[in-house]
Amino acid sequence: MRMANSQRLGDPIGQMMDKTDVFIFDCDGVIWKGDSLIEGVPSVLDRLRQAGKRIFFVTNNSTKSRKGYKSKFDSLGLSVEPEEIFSSSFAAAAYLEQTRFKDTGKKVYIVGEVGIEEELDLIGVPHFGGPSDGSKGVELKPGFALPHDENVGAVVVGFDRMINYYKIQYAQLCINENPGCEFIATNTDAVTHLTDAQEWAGNGAMVGAIKGCTGVEPTIVGKPGPLMIDYIIQKYNVERSRICMVGDRLDTDVLFGANNGLMSILTLSGVTTEEKLLSPENKINPDYYVNSINDFFPFYT
Ligand code: PLP
Ligand code: CA
Repeated sequence: MRMANSQRLGDPIGQMMDKTDVFIFDCDGVIWKGDSLIEGVPSVLDRLRQAGKRIFFVTNNSTKSRKGYKSKFDSLGLSVEPEEIFSSSFAAAAYLEQTRFKDTGKKVYIVGEVGIEEELDLIGVPHFGGPSDGSKGVELKPGFALPHDENVGAVVVGFDRMINYYKIQYAQLCINENPGCEFIATNTDAVTHLTDAQEWAGNGAMVGAIKGCTGVEPTIVGKPGPLMIDYIIQKYNVERSRICMVGDRLDTDVLFGANNGLMSILTLSGVTTEEKLLSPENKINPDYYVNSINDFFPFYT
């Protein structure tokens, strides 16, 4: 982890450009906020591409698949290839592929939304659960035991706005009672900004509920874990030290950079204030910080 103080990115963008082949952009707080594009983003992306830089987008939000994000980019007028998008829902599927889960002949139980379902469909892994599961509730009569499928070999937990007691109990039974059943978390963001009026409970809440009743630590496939960056490096044959992570959050994006040997730039266009970044309590420091990615090119206009 980088402990040196952060510097505002001024003229050094020139040096960054020379040192960087690949820019990885976090999405919410950097490219968009909710459903609104952050001002100036299209022209910054165009200029980076014109300068020959490779661009990827990495988001911890598992509610959409790559295909779902492609539609979102399209609707915001941003031209992006699906292969440039790495959502934590895609990361869950990539992990199952890497570990050859399909060969086990087992199924996945999903606590989460359509993004995870669509990604698992694409790799041909059988799954059930998902948004509406358990919506009828559980009737707790004396002697009642909730049955569960002993052929579940992994539970994937992503952000789920229809989380309920049934799903938590079902996940608990699979993880605790099925030998070797994996507990996979797309991400553990404590809070998220579903509206700009307040912070909302993030997937850390769903993962925490299942961790609390199983005592099992999940495998985290999203940021700040290494899976997505290792996948990109291997698939696209890029040099780790020439990658720059650009994000708005210290404990996911900047830590993702620091833990994985990447350069990093923090943007103040999302959840982190300059005060929080520079406070003595903060131990996670990017190489540079900017107000927004609009500041990448002020010296070259
Ligand atoms: N999880 C959820 C449910 C979200 O809504 C968001 C942001 O909108 C995130 C995670 C964080 O996404 P990102 O990694 O793009 O900032
Ligand atoms: Ca973000």
